[in-house]
Amino acid sequence: MAGAKSSADETTRALAAAERISVSFGDLEVVKQVDLSVRKGEVVAIIGPSGSGKSTFLRCFNYLQPPTSGTLTIDGDVIVDAGRKPKYADLLKLRRKVGMCFQSFNLFPHLTAVENIDLAQISALGRSKHEARARSMDLLKRVGLETKADTKPARCSGGQQQRIAIARALALDPQMMLFDEPTSALDPELGHEVLAVMRELADSGMTMIIVTHEMRFAENVADRIMFMADGKAVEIGEPRQVLRSPVHERTQKFLSMVFDR
Ligand code: ADP
Ligand code: MG
Repeated sequence: MAGAKSSADETTRALAAAERISVSFGDLEVVKQVDLSVRKGEVVAIIGPSGSGKSTFLRCFNYLQPPTSGTLTIDGDVIVDAGRKPKYADLLKLRRKVGMCFQSFNLFPHLTAVENIDLAQISALGRSKHEARARSMDLLKRVGLETKADTKPARCSGGQQQRIAIARALALDPQMMLFDEPTSALDPELGHEVLAVMRELADSGMTMIIVTHEMRFAENVADRIMFMADGKAVEIGEPRQVLRSPVHERTQKFLSMVFDR
């Protein structure tokens, strides 16, 4: 039971630990003192109403969103301490360790699928073209798209584009992956193939934080679910407990609206 251990102990054992993270935009505080420790191999799903700060909090984990206060520890190194600006070298290290997939895929339209996956390996990791290509092809196979290697994104479905974007993130050998509603721009059918890839990733032991509206997926794949509302982490626990017998009234209200649709 995570709650039985001291917070210092949890932080030491965690692959990633956010402590008392807050984010303000001007006078508006949208993330309020949120803690989240993620163990190696753990999958945490974040759910909650729109505007509750889920994306903003998630983006702190790779410093796409600098927190206003709090600290972020990855693999034992304090990478982000809101009090001081991180060193450029630390940021590069962080971005390599923590891969991210968004709702919009952001693939380069003028490059083929395999070229999109090659690119960062060559520029960020200094892999040779040959090495990068071999890795890209392995990853395309892993996401079930080896036949699309030479196809440009515009000629791939949304689900295929998202799987290419996942392969691209994996090409940098991240220690953990962040997903921000990776299926919400997709038809249910196409979302399904993306969820299947994510489930395979989880089964292979990838550490993941996933912001999602896919409750069934969250229940089946996540080790823990965190419910956020109004910038706060209202409740976190085992999926069945949070989804089926939530402790807090705010969680109950949200879930009753989600499940009554
Ligand atoms: P969620 O992902 O849960 O829908 P967000 O993290 O995107 O919520 O947003 C939380 C709140 O912060 C919202 O009120 C949103 O309008 C606001 N917000 C997000 N990004 C910015 C920004 N760059 N500048 C100002 N306000 C923002
Ligand atoms: Mg969001």
